[in-house]
Amino acid sequence: TVGAVAVDVEGNIACATSTGGFINKMDGRVGDTALIGCGAYADNRVGAVSPTGYGEAIMKVTLARLIIFYMEQGKSAEEASDLGLAYMKERAQGLGGVVTVDSRGVWAARFTSLQMAWAAAQDDVIHYGLFHGEDFTQPA
Ligand code: ASP
Repeated sequence: TVGAVAVDVEGNIACATSTGGFINKMDGRVGDTALIGCGAYADNRVGAVSPTGYGEAIMKVTLARLIIFYMEQGKSAEEASDLGLAYMKERAQGLGGVVTVDSRGVWAARFTSLQMAWAAAQDDVIHYGLFHGEDFTQPA
């Protein structure tokens, strides 16, 4: 997956997700990436989410919309992402990761998979990482 979330200077929020799907996937499979609320969701009032991971589990829990729902209930982007991913692991035995941003531009890159390459650009600084606990920064 390559996924992105963004907030522009006028407060417009967008997300995009692309994927090659899974190795040995069934012919004709439509994965989570093409389904709004599963592999992508954006709402100018709340934020945006772009997931990666086991698509069947992402679809079962409508992961992107679930994380937006947690944010609507007052959770931060990071808390909502962790809650959504934990729910997917427990309910659908699926691992994955998300990039999430709220309407103020506060972002999170969270995952239950072993690793997920991610990067974020904000305030002339680029943040990037691969494993949990890693967060490198450099001037943009
Ligand atoms: N979510 C994708 C799928 O299940 C796989 C991925 O790219 O993360 O098709």
